[in-house]
Amino acid sequence: MKTVNLLLLLVNLATMVYSLPILEPTKEDFTFAETYLKRFFNLTEETGPTARRGLGQSSTKVREMQKFFGLKMTGTLDGDTMTMMKKPRCGVPDVQVRHFSTFNNLRWKTSQITYRIENYTPDMTVAEVDQSIERALQVWAKVTPLRFTRIYRGTADIMISFRTGEHGDFNPFDGPNGILAHAYAPGTGIGGDAHFDDDERFAFSSSRGFVLFLVAAHEFGHSLGLSHSNVRGALMFPNYSYTDLRTFSLSRDDVTGIQYLYGPNPKPGNPDPTPPSTPDVCDPALVLDAVTTLRGEQMFFKDRFVWRRFSQNSQPERNLIKYIWPNLPNNIDAAFENVLSDRVFIFKDRKVWAVSGFEMVPGYPRYLNDLGLPRMVKKVDAALHNQAIKKTLFFVGDYYYSYNEENKRMDKGFPKRVDEGFPGMTSKVTAAVQVQGYIYLFSGSRVYKYSSWTRRQLGVLGNNHFLPC
Ligand SMILES: [Zn+2]
Ligand SMILES: [Zn+2]
Repeated sequence: MKTVNLLLLLVNLATMVYSLPILEPTKEDFTFAETYLKRFFNLTEETGPTARRGLGQSSTKVREMQKFFGLKMTGTLDGDTMTMMKKPRCGVPDVQVRHFSTFNNLRWKTSQITYRIENYTPDMTVAEVDQSIERALQVWAKVTPLRFTRIYRGTADIMISFRTGEHGDFNPFDGPNGILAHAYAPGTGIGGDAHFDDDERFAFSSSRGFVLFLVAAHEFGHSLGLSHSNVRGALMFPNYSYTDLRTFSLSRDDVTGIQYLYGPNPKPGNPDPTPPSTPDVCDPALVLDAVTTLRGEQMFFKDRFVWRRFSQNSQPERNLIKYIWPNLPNNIDAAFENVLSDRVFIFKDRKVWAVSGFEMVPGYPRYLNDLGLPRMVKKVDAALHNQAIKKTLFFVGDYYYSYNEENKRMDKGFPKRVDEGFPGMTSKVTAAVQVQGYIYLFSGSRVYKYSSWTRRQLGVLGNNHFLPC
């Protein structure tokens, strides 16, 4: 009954927002979304005379979920929303979470905490599981006074087990994908315990399965009293995101959260470098790695992050690059969109990847010289596609190349000096984009606006022209 009502409301809303390219959600999508919202955003059952209010609530809950994940707040089950809901994640709810948060300040009263591994997953060797768990606890020990001791019998503060389906805590697991694990806030009994869904394929280090260390480090955050964070890149963000273990570190938000509960490590052995902070779009000195459009959005790349801006009036929204495209590298060099082929090309060093929306295009990465760039070009600094004349410009040092997208060849007479093609552009181009018929060349934190036709310089702007604060 309620499902049907939810359906009606969402269909109504979906038809109101007619300007958006909405893939019609299926009945399965609605059922899936309803379960998801109940589980993670506290959508409650309302039937009978109050059903109408229940319907309003479901749209509000969709918005709440969209806000949390930094999606466009349409209140409807659009494609991006469904994609986000289907990502593998932790089973602990996200209700009313902002940046780091706690379970009402629940914490362990001692810094000496015991743990016990009750059973093992068949996916990994015993030694691999032991090491993953130990390492995951050390992530937190490094930045707090907490010390973890393993015990082999009896009840530990943190009991660790691999379970499937219904497993005795009224929080059933859901088979492969979806929920990967859950853990309980500090306390007696089940408090502090961490359960891993053994219907998942866990892995020690490769990206072939869910890396147990990453999942466990997140769950132990809960075992120690942290709830979810909506900060992208934070370990306590609810969705699983593969990180190269060699470069893993807590984000500043995680450290702030855990030290809020326990204070800093009084004896940091090898003080870790400060966790990577998130580049600030409001920093007037911010130098972007690359800028492109994507299906009407603007996208700004820096380090591990990409900011998406949906329209001139909207605030940019931050995502991890890996989160949107797990197979793309961080710290990219350049990007451009070819609207006709609905592809965005991403450059790093000599490689180029192609994406279509949020999907990787097969057959990539390819190499710069496949595009006709000479072999001596080891990387491009910036790229932009001029839709009107179907040419792509590649900026390399003081020079630029012009590529004809129609005959798939480099134009003759190139490379040319940048200041020859763009009078007044004497500093290095670090990013470039064409928006609404204008060419914007980024150099450091400045943006030079040119007419696409006359190549006349029309003004010098700051980053905040595109990234308002
Ligand atoms: Zn979680
Ligand atoms: Zn459980």
